[in-house]
Amino acid sequence: MMLEKNLAKKGIITDSVKIAAQKEQISPEKLACSVAEGKTVILKHKGGSVVAIGESLRVKVNTNIGTSPDVCDIDFELEKLRTACRLKSDTGMDLSTGGDLDRIRKIIVQESPVPVGSVPVYQAMIESIEKYGTIEKMKEDELFEVIERHARDGISFVTVHCGITLSSLEILKKRTRKTGIVSRGGAFIASWMAMTGKENPLYSNFERLLELASRYDLVLSLGDGLRPGCIADASDNLQMSELMTLGHLTQKAWEADIQVIIEGPGHIPLNHIIPNVQLAKTVCHGAPLYLLGPIVTDIAAGYDHITSAIGGALAAWAGADFLCYVTPSEHLGLPTVQDVEEGVVASKIAAHAADIARGHSFARNQDDRISEVRYSRNWKEQEKLVINPEKFRRIRESQKVYSDEVCNMCGKYCAMKIIDETIKKIGL
Ligand code: SF4
Repeated sequence: MMLEKNLAKKGIITDSVKIAAQKEQISPEKLACSVAEGKTVILKHKGGSVVAIGESLRVKVNTNIGTSPDVCDIDFELEKLRTACRLKSDTGMDLSTGGDLDRIRKIIVQESPVPVGSVPVYQAMIESIEKYGTIEKMKEDELFEVIERHARDGISFVTVHCGITLSSLEILKKRTRKTGIVSRGGAFIASWMAMTGKENPLYSNFERLLELASRYDLVLSLGDGLRPGCIADASDNLQMSELMTLGHLTQKAWEADIQVIIEGPGHIPLNHIIPNVQLAKTVCHGAPLYLLGPIVTDIAAGYDHITSAIGGALAAWAGADFLCYVTPSEHLGLPTVQDVEEGVVASKIAAHAADIARGHSFARNQDDRISEVRYSRNWKEQEKLVINPEKFRRIRESQKVYSDEVCNMCGKYCAMKIIDETIKKIGL
């Protein structure tokens, strides 16, 4: 298997790099250079789509879908996937934990127009519970076998919680945290380690993971299993110790030409966001940074797509490259299709706002184009340019307007119409 990173290091411009460079409006040579350095990763979907994530590129958004033990309906999940893709989510992750996980994953990969990621440790642990009645009995070989199954099925990137170690458990035992471990994969791995007394196989056997990844050019998303789950736990020693481990593993992965993404928190207050992003970028040598949220307050269950968009915009402006969406159902339940719509839009807004601040002219041009047609009250053109045309149309159609030239906010006192007519009549 020819590895994307190795080819980039040799100066070979692959078709994937060409496609991604065209989408990003940068030169393929510049993009290949960034891939060679590890500062950009190329995600390839077996259906043909390519997404580049990293330094100086447009900020990307991921949408999580997937069944739970209580709600297991593949059609429901596919509807969420279609909704996310209509709203231009750049990637999707299958986080299924209920039903026939192999079948669900294959269908999602098949139906997805964008690269799909997964968290194989969920399935490894669930299969262990089904087979042995406990996660304690899960064998290391079984964990690696599930990761390989996902790669073979066309998964483009996997979250692997390699940074939790036995020394992390020593810190965890001091019970300094309010919310312990909130990462599902992190909780599985830590519990397995605590029960068996063994080191995390994803850490102790990292070379085996790299060898597996090299067979499929699988991108490793080094998971933040110890991410803070509340504001009180933000930037604590558990989070930082995991980050240091991920920095070390990033270099090992790069030596094997494996592409790496670094996952980050989580719940962090606004004033921690810029230092957190800068630290993660420094410790992990500039590898692409993938943040869940971040969620900037704990009090907004039901509105966490908003709290995460606030954090996401600031984080992406500070240098994060990839935002994992959060829905209004976060902390409450499995998202509905409507929740997915709200979550993707919120993250896309955060990403776009950061793109403007990062100086991407194509992002700024989009705003300039819409401002022109907004001033001329050209509703049809505005609808084509907004982030969610369907909602734009719904609101517009629900309003009673006395003239198509205005909306019913100001009606006949429409400020833009008044000044436009004044300029035309007497000039200013
Ligand atoms: S009526 Fe008011 S809100 Fe509506 S387009 Fe005119 S200025 Fe804007």
